[in-house]
Amino acid sequence: MGSSIDRARSGEADGVRPPGELLRRLPKVDRLLDDPLFAPHLSAHSRAETLATIREVLEELRARGARGELDAQEIEPAAIERAVRARLVAAAVPYYRPVINATGVVLHTGLGRAPIAPEVADALSDRVRHPLRVEIDPETGQRGGRDEGCAALIRELTGAEDATIVNNNAGATLLLLAALAAGRRVLLSHGEMVEIGGSFRIPDIMELGGARLAGVGTTNRTHPRDYEGAIDDTVAMILKVHTSNYRVVGFTEEVEIDELVAIGRRTGTPVVHDLGSGCMIDLAARGRPGESLVADSLAAGCDLVCFSGDKLLGGPQSGIIAGRREAVEACRKHPLYRAMRPCRLTYVALEATLRIYRADPDEVIERIPTLGRLLASAESLQPRASALAAALAPVEGLDAVIEPHGALAGSGSLPAREIDSLAVRLETDRLSATELAARLRDGATPIFPVVRDDIVRLDVRTIDDADVSVIAEKLAAILGA
Ligand SMILES: *Cc1c(COP(=O)(O)O)cnc(C)c1O
Repeated sequence: MGSSIDRARSGEADGVRPPGELLRRLPKVDRLLDDPLFAPHLSAHSRAETLATIREVLEELRARGARGELDAQEIEPAAIERAVRARLVAAAVPYYRPVINATGVVLHTGLGRAPIAPEVADALSDRVRHPLRVEIDPETGQRGGRDEGCAALIRELTGAEDATIVNNNAGATLLLLAALAAGRRVLLSHGEMVEIGGSFRIPDIMELGGARLAGVGTTNRTHPRDYEGAIDDTVAMILKVHTSNYRVVGFTEEVEIDELVAIGRRTGTPVVHDLGSGCMIDLAARGRPGESLVADSLAAGCDLVCFSGDKLLGGPQSGIIAGRREAVEACRKHPLYRAMRPCRLTYVALEATLRIYRADPDEVIERIPTLGRLLASAESLQPRASALAAALAPVEGLDAVIEPHGALAGSGSLPAREIDSLAVRLETDRLSATELAARLRDGATPIFPVVRDDIVRLDVRTIDDADVSVIAEKLAAILGA
């Protein structure tokens, strides 16, 4: 007894107490809640959240106390308040938060693909707070035409007879197979049996849609006669799929869409083109070859095309099916359509995005951030690269060097074609490349760099001018600390 008190006393003298004693002095939850220190938290957060957070912190202190790792200052109410505040602040940061994309990958699936155009974001914030005309016709009061707002624009912009919208292009592909080819065979070149990623494999989707895959040709060469030879009355469709994330090069041959349409016409077989990206601006004419235009596939006479809304179109995640009226209607009438229809935010954002495409192409490129980023010349990036290098020059322990870099469209668009870009290489002895990249990604505004061969680079093609100062401040904090 006496000896334990002695130990406690002597502990007090040099600031180290035995664990049991410190833990007994740990403030009670109720006392902390009544402490004025905690009043600001109780007004900013719910009582339940504040209480739960205090309990978490006390729990952790108890666990550390039991391991003998605690010191006296940590159990002071002020110290506990600091720990509670840090947790509450961290919990208030949204999971889906803005990041800086310095990867040079314009459409980065991990970073949400196409950023929404500012005017589209305005349309969203204006309209989605109100009840919205979605399905009911204000003139007649009758139901119908859920996707008509977007469909009308797609008709106007692409020449399609009709269009319908689902949640994404994977859904669009599944729906059109289920609606037009269930129980029958679908011809697809072996060179186009792709896996897009995230377990989206065309053969699997086909099976899910109830269709039977009939591969034609070979991996590198498929000829018109391969399709013609395979057609009989069990064939529901000829499908062409954009080979999004790779290119077949060398001794190759593929059958172009107009030739497939000619075969389809001769044999009475519908032809469907899964375009992937949904490009509506002639990128090849602007130095970025590799994508066919939605309107071109439709003009060639495809029965249906399908494409994503959040790839080169630059809009919200969505899947668009466009083409012949009866084929689109068959998709819309299929029970899967109900399971795949988008939410109203998507219709508002997609309509606003499509409306931009009524402008002249050069203006469209200016107003759709994805296209602006994709088409910017390397020279036009020089001012931003210089501004970033200059902003980083005062950061101690860091060398920032501008150098050429290969950016990418990403998300299966313009596959395997590097885009001349500029990056700022970050050199420091204080942290390894892996550590530096991890610190950049950490925090309230994560910065995603390129890390390759133990070198960290920031590609300026995919950042905004306003990001420059944010990046400089963060690097100064990382290297200064
Ligand atoms: C990206 C892509 C898909 C999948 O589209 P999501 O919108 O991501 O579902 C399907 N087919 C092709 C050819 C693609 O490039």
